[in-house]
Amino acid sequence: MIIAEQKPMEEILEMLAPYKKILLAGCGACVTVCQAGGEKEVGVLASQIRLARKDAGNPIEVLEMTMTRQCEPEFMEEAEDAMKEVDAVLSIACGIGVQLMAKTFFDKPALPGLNTTFLGFPEEHGVFTERCAACGNCVLHLTGGICPIARCSKSLLNGPCGGSQDGKCEISPDVECAWQLIYDRLKALGQLENLENIIPPKKWITSRDGGPRKIVREDLRI
Ligand code: SF4
Ligand code: SF4
Repeated sequence: MIIAEQKPMEEILEMLAPYKKILLAGCGACVTVCQAGGEKEVGVLASQIRLARKDAGNPIEVLEMTMTRQCEPEFMEEAEDAMKEVDAVLSIACGIGVQLMAKTFFDKPALPGLNTTFLGFPEEHGVFTERCAACGNCVLHLTGGICPIARCSKSLLNGPCGGSQDGKCEISPDVECAWQLIYDRLKALGQLENLENIIPPKKWITSRDGGPRKIVREDLRI
């Protein structure tokens, strides 16, 4: 899922400074799970904004809404009525949600309340870790189901590097070496011979380095 975290309050208030009435729009999908932009966060943030603006002598009206999924056009109609009433929308969905709001409600500013951070999952309560960099050409079948792109600090395809120490990455003793994890997992699977096969240089054109990506599924088009 997409992991995001709320922007600092000062930054949010600065973005909202020109507006008197806004829609605060959360999303019921990924950001609800990572507790950055779901119904609960909409309620808390709306109260914080109202209080801060009241204290500053510049009150603001905040409409609240948590959309089913802010990243899909079919759910945009949920915000149609509210968007007619407001000066701007503060979205606490991921960056995709903010951009879809901007595209759908073209005449109203869409402001990002979150910093969209990475693709990952909750490791434990309140701890989220990156697990995929959306490289566009998955190699997990070669690496024991552990991503060397997202989890190795150097995105090495044939690791480990010389900095791996006691199973930890050279960047920090708190960061596991991805290639140690890959070794351990391949060993457990009885597939250590995978390490003898050099993974060829990756064609990064399938990742973000090749420019904005697009998938066209002719079988789905109408
Ligand atoms: S290899 Fe690429 S697609 Fe597969 S998990 Fe890693 S970054 Fe994601
Ligand atoms: S120590 Fe391990 S995770 Fe860190 S950069 Fe080297 S191979 Fe990658």
